[in-house]
Amino acid sequence: MWWKKLLSIPVFVYTVLSGSAAKGDEVEQRENMVSRQIETRGVRDPRVLAAMRRVPRHEFVPAAQRSMAYQDGPLPIGYGQTISQPYIVAVMTELARLKPGDRVLEIGTGSGYQAAVLAEIGAEVYSIELVPELAAEAAETLKRLGYTGVEARQGDGYAGWPAAAPFRAIVVTAAPPTVPPLLLEQLDVGGRLVIPVGDYFQELQVHTRGEDGIEVETIFPVRFVPMRGRIEDSEGAGADADEPDQPAAER
Ligand code: SAH
Repeated sequence: MWWKKLLSIPVFVYTVLSGSAAKGDEVEQRENMVSRQIETRGVRDPRVLAAMRRVPRHEFVPAAQRSMAYQDGPLPIGYGQTISQPYIVAVMTELARLKPGDRVLEIGTGSGYQAAVLAEIGAEVYSIELVPELAAEAAETLKRLGYTGVEARQGDGYAGWPAAAPFRAIVVTAAPPTVPPLLLEQLDVGGRLVIPVGDYFQELQVHTRGEDGIEVETIFPVRFVPMRGRIEDSEGAGADADEPDQPAAER
């Protein structure tokens, strides 16, 4: 119908204009995200702050969520999963205490955002994702954005990545009911496992491997999606399929 043609013209003009306006906006929005959501809540590590300023978070969320990419919360990425709140990504990265060249393992690639932040620190990143579609999408996004320092694969992170161990840090972004023992074994001496632990009530923990044992530190309560796969068989406690899938960290 003739009037449909007329309607499409303003839509096209709007799309082009808002597209070009958005670029500068995103840099500004990211700057605001870092200063208002992250620095003010106490994240100080300059390497982490610089990485959070650089990674284009909007590239890691589905098109429908893009306008919300720099907001202070988690967002759905499909398959019942979420990209974590920016502040939580920053805290977990800071807790990992990585230096350029360190080797880090991430369990739960999801969108690939946390992996990109770890790569911006200069770390050598290994990342495992259980859901095949997310693993494929994240690998594609990371490649498109030039994050060559990330090796991502599909699989169950329960058993870690023995071939690439030991790690300076392991960052887990899905919550198991208890700490998977194989992950602790893959830490270097002095290495740190940053992990949300629990079912409905979870806490963020750091397990540091010392010369003679593991030291555990509790950070604060968090809400992540549950870890799936082998952990559910071995623990029997796994996760309840009806649980909300928002990793909401209250602070
Ligand atoms: N780090 C992600 C957040 C992902 S949410 C990001 O930056 O976007 C947690 C992810 O862990 C989900 O994608 C979920 O599918 C994945 N996951 C759950 N159990 C897992 C397991 N056993 N091994 C690997 N990934 C797992």
